[in-house]
Amino acid sequence: MEFTCRTCGQRHDTGEISFGADAPAQWMLISDEEREKSELGGDQCVIEADGQRHYFVRACLEVPIQGAQQAFTWGVWVSLSEKSFREMSDHWKDPSRTSLGPYFGWLCTRLPEYPDTVFLKTMVHQRPVGLRPLVELDETDHPLSIDQRRDIEPARMQDIIRKVLHSE
Ligand SMILES: [Zn+2]
Repeated sequence: MEFTCRTCGQRHDTGEISFGADAPAQWMLISDEEREKSELGGDQCVIEADGQRHYFVRACLEVPIQGAQQAFTWGVWVSLSEKSFREMSDHWKDPSRTSLGPYFGWLCTRLPEYPDTVFLKTMVHQRPVGLRPLVELDETDHPLSIDQRRDIEPARMQDIIRKVLHSE
């Protein structure tokens, strides 16, 4: 869905823009020493802190837009149990991985223009090899959960995109 931006006057396409976080929110909270013991990749992250390991994967959180064919996609991180993380890793390139899961996960990315989204409950659904998993939010009153479930109004989505695009 294309729209004319009120800030820059250009046309933006909601289907071509996506915003993503490079690391789970927790990555910013740990010490340099902990970060050295931890691992951050493009799709997976393991944080070692306080003698414990925490497991994360990068995923796509889609928000359907009313009247648009394509949803808007946020690139997010979710934390998984060690068991889920290992199962996902073991089947990373397995074509039948879509028959596994879904996995419970906590959202670990703060999305702009929403009340705090960290630690929202989610289910993480596998997709075919090459595609990041899809995040389905728990049905709650959180505005992001409502937007995902009922589709967001185009004007509100455009406003979010405009603000995030031009705040950088
Ligand atoms: Zn603009």
